[in-house]
Amino acid sequence: MRVDVITIFPEMFAGVVSTSIWRIAQEKGLLQVVLTDLREYTTDKHHKVDDRPFGGGPGMVLKVEPVVRAARAVQAQQPGQPGRVLLMCPQGRVFDQALARELAGEERLILIAPRYEGYDERIVEILGAERVSIGDYVLTGGELPAMVVIDAVARLQPGVLGDEESVVWESFGEENGGLLEYPQYTRPAEFEGRSVPEVLVSGDHGKVERWRREQARERTARMRPDLIENQEPGDGANRSAPPER
Ligand code: SAM
Repeated sequence: MRVDVITIFPEMFAGVVSTSIWRIAQEKGLLQVVLTDLREYTTDKHHKVDDRPFGGGPGMVLKVEPVVRAARAVQAQQPGQPGRVLLMCPQGRVFDQALARELAGEERLILIAPRYEGYDERIVEILGAERVSIGDYVLTGGELPAMVVIDAVARLQPGVLGDEESVVWESFGEENGGLLEYPQYTRPAEFEGRSVPEVLVSGDHGKVERWRREQARERTARMRPDLIENQEPGDGANRSAPPER
């Protein structure tokens, strides 16, 4: 999968691109992240990418020309594969695991990370961009949302994660009916008077499996009841067994 990011702050991505899953995915040839500096697609000597809003009002607005020029330039780097263009925006479709799974099936994504008070609306119309929000709050720019989207999508690429970091039975996963994951414990079996649940050290895999299913449902009902309310009939934490760990 190739992911292009159009931003005025490519340096914000430097640490993330070269760390952990992003680095591994790129080394395995499963992910290619290409950063494009929007200012390179300006034509004035000050490399200006923003301007005052028509009609007045506070703040500045991201200009249409450099964004369209940059997007077309990166699209031209892989002819015949224009990619799905996503514009980071708090007004967009809220990013969730279902959208992450959907995007993970794409061969190419182009993420636009605006700044300022907003962006010229014609960017959406001309590029056929889809607005994506990472939640109902307002950040300073689209870089962090772009990183969130890339991270969630990259880890779903087959082969990116090792067996011990399975994406199969995890929170919001299809296999567990979209519930939260069950609680986890590791050694020591006792710490400050608190023991891990007996069932987990029983060696009875059937019991462990049942316990995990119950726990997943119980904690979802307690912490995210909306996930249970939104379940389709037939959904539930019994589609497949949680993995043995
Ligand atoms: N004035 C805009 C509004 O009220 O909708 C908010 C602009 S915000 C300060 C600047 C940029 O940060 C946005 O254009 C968007 O790219 C990005 N951004 C902020 N919050 C976001 C969110 N929750 N999801 C995705 N992008 C966001």
